[in-house]
Amino acid sequence: MIESAFHQELRNGVRAICKKYPDAYWRELDERRAYPEEFVSELSRAGFLGALIPEQYGGSGLSVTEASIIMEEINRSGGNAGACHAQMYTMGTLLRHGTEEQKRSYLPKIADGTLRLQAFGVTEPNTGSDTTQLATMAVRKGDKYVVNGQKVFISRTEYTDLMILLVRTTPLAEVKKRTEGLSVLLVDMREAVGNGITIRPIRTMMNHATTELFIENLEVPVENLIGEEGKGFSYILDGMNAERILIASECLGDGYWFVERAAEYAKQRVVFKRPIGQNQGIQFPLAQSYIHLEAANLMRFRAAELFDAGLPCGKEANMAKLLAADASWEAANAAVQTHGGFGFAEEYDVERKFRETRLYQVAPISTNLILSYVAEHVLGLPRSY
Ligand SMILES: Cc1cc2nc3c(=O)[nH]c(=O)nc-3n(C[C@H](O)[C@H](O)[C@H](O)COP(=O)(O)OP(=O)(O)OC[C@H]3O[C@@H](n4cnc5c(N)ncnc54)[C@H](O)[C@@H]3O)c2cc1C
Repeated sequence: MIESAFHQELRNGVRAICKKYPDAYWRELDERRAYPEEFVSELSRAGFLGALIPEQYGGSGLSVTEASIIMEEINRSGGNAGACHAQMYTMGTLLRHGTEEQKRSYLPKIADGTLRLQAFGVTEPNTGSDTTQLATMAVRKGDKYVVNGQKVFISRTEYTDLMILLVRTTPLAEVKKRTEGLSVLLVDMREAVGNGITIRPIRTMMNHATTELFIENLEVPVENLIGEEGKGFSYILDGMNAERILIASECLGDGYWFVERAAEYAKQRVVFKRPIGQNQGIQFPLAQSYIHLEAANLMRFRAAELFDAGLPCGKEANMAKLLAADASWEAANAAVQTHGGFGFAEEYDVERKFRETRLYQVAPISTNLILSYVAEHVLGLPRSY
C-alpha cells in the first residue's frame, strides 16, 4: 500500500499529541504503574480513539487501515497504546451487534471521550485460551441477569466506565456445540464495582493496569445484552480480526522505535575509538530487524485493506499479528544488545519498551494459537486441540 497524504496527516496529528508526552512521562507512569489519564483524554478529545465509530454516531468514521496508523504512531513515539487500544476494537461488538438504541446512547459518548469503554472481559483463571469453556454464568431473573464467576487479566477495569463481558447463559452441558450459549453483556462499571464486582489489581512486569475480577451476584439489566442471547462467541470472534490488525500495528510501532533508537545510539556511542555502529556485529541485527518489520508491515496493510473492503482476512490478520510481534521482539533484543549496559538502565527507556513489547507474544492471543489457526484453517491440517 502506498500511503496517502491523509495517512501522513494522520501520522503528523498523532505525533503532535505524542510529543507532549515524552519518554519521561511514560517512564514515570511505569514506575508508579499508573494510568496515562491525560494522554488518553487528549487522544479522545482529538477524536483519535473514536476513529472506528461512524460519523453518524459522532465518531471519525475512519477505516481499520487508518486506525492502525494511529496505534502504530503512539508506540513509535515511545508511548504505549496498550492503555487505550481496547476502546477501538471493543467498541466494534456494540457497533455491529447492538440495537439502534444502545448505539445511540453509548457510541457518541464513547466517541467524545465522555464514556470510556476500555475493558473487555473474556479470560478466566481455569480456562485460559480455551474460551468456550468459560464458567462465568449469567442467569436471567425477570428483567435482570444475575452474574457469578471470575475473570483474570482483565485490563483497565479501574479506568473504564463500561466493560464488555463474555458470560455463559446456557450451561455447557445443555448446548449442542461448545460455541453456543455464550452471551455478551455491557456492564456499567460505575455501578458494578462494589455492587457485584470486586477488582484485584495484578502487578505485571509492565504497566498494563490488568486485574482480576470476582463477580458475585452482579445484576445487569436485560437491556444491556448485546445482540442475541447465546450468540456471544461469534460476536467476539468477528471482532478478532480488527484486534489482531491493531495489535500488529502497535508491535510495528514498537519495532520501529527500537530500531530507530538503537541506530541513533550506535552512531553516537564511541568504543575502541569508533562508533559501535561501524561494526557489522551491531549493524546486521538492526538491519535484519528492520527488514522483518518492513515485511510484517506489508502484511498488516494487506490485512487492513481486506478488512476495510469487507473481505475475509482471518489468515492475513493472524499472520500480521504473528509477524509483527516477532519482528518487534527481535528488534527489542537487538536494541538492548546495541545499548550494552545502558539497555538495562531505566532512563534509556529501552528496557521499558522491551518489557512492553514482550506481552504480544502471549496476549491477546498467544503465538502458538496463531500457528494452530494457520495450520488448521489455511493448511487444512487436523485440529490439534
Ligand atoms: C498483561 C495482560 C493483559 C491482558 N488483558 C486481557 C483483557 O483485557 N481481557 C481478556 O479477556 N484477557 C486479557 N489477557 C489474557 C490473555 O488474552 C491471555 O493471557 C492469553 O489469551 C493466554 O491465555 P492464558 O494466559 O490463560 O494462557 P494459557 O491458555 O494457559 O496458555 C499458556 C501457554 O500454553 C500455550 N497453549 C495453550 N494451549 C495450547 C495448544 N492447544 N497448543 C499449543 N500451545 C498451547 C499457549 O500458547 C501459552 O503459551 C491479558 C493478559 C495479560 C498478560
